[in-house]
Amino acid sequence: MIAHLINTDVGNRGVLGAYLDYRRETPNFLHNSAKIFLDNHERVLIITGFPIPPTMRAETDGPPGAIAIAKAVEELGGRAEVMTYPEVENALWAFGVKFVREPDVSSYSLLIAVETPGRAEDGNYYSMSGMKIERKTFDKVVLEARKTGVPTIGIGDGGNEVGMGRIRDLVARHVPNGKKIASVIETDELILSAVSNWGAYGLLAEASLELGRNLLDGWDEAFVVETLVKNGLIDGVSKTQTLTVDGIQLNVHEKIVELLNTLVEEALGKR
Ligand code: CA
Repeated sequence: MIAHLINTDVGNRGVLGAYLDYRRETPNFLHNSAKIFLDNHERVLIITGFPIPPTMRAETDGPPGAIAIAKAVEELGGRAEVMTYPEVENALWAFGVKFVREPDVSSYSLLIAVETPGRAEDGNYYSMSGMKIERKTFDKVVLEARKTGVPTIGIGDGGNEVGMGRIRDLVARHVPNGKKIASVIETDELILSAVSNWGAYGLLAEASLELGRNLLDGWDEAFVVETLVKNGLIDGVSKTQTLTVDGIQLNVHEKIVELLNTLVEEALGKR
């Protein structure tokens, strides 16, 4: 149910077909991710930030999801640190998030990548439209985590992000430019969603159901997006500093969060 909701393809970017196939092959992806999250929340490294060509400024999808996950980790009694671009650090400052620039990967209990570029087969990094991303990326940290046995979760919506290596064939089949842009970087679990922020909220909603406590409670999507845009982050589709995420009006994002919250409350209330 939650997996369906976060894959509502409002932006019509091809994720729906990929999701339906992924769901058939891996029906428990959200449950598995929530379990890894709840079992390993002691010290979580969250990587986020997606530079948008041609300016290479970071977009509004990803950072809100990262904040929500960081808040949930701290609420569970763990510690969360965010690795991202300087302008995103700047925009996230107001939310009391902790940052790390050169993490000792082996000291973390879990790594979660929310909407950050993963290299393609040819070694380059691409936007959804197939433009090269010419900026520092963080996927090496994910490879290091996998090598040292730190559990990893990837969250993405376009096929070009860290974690999509698991479903490269589906990305090639369903996403425009898929063969070229598909990332080869795999994570232990992959949350596919129509907007990566929704993937992060979906993870927390699912974890809430299993925990018996609502980790999304009080999440103010409008305030978060407004703050990030005011501080310079741009929409990844329109490439402008507007109150949208992935080209979708803020109103829709608020409604998705409201629906997730209501579903969690409803499910918990019935126990
Ligand atoms: Ca996105």
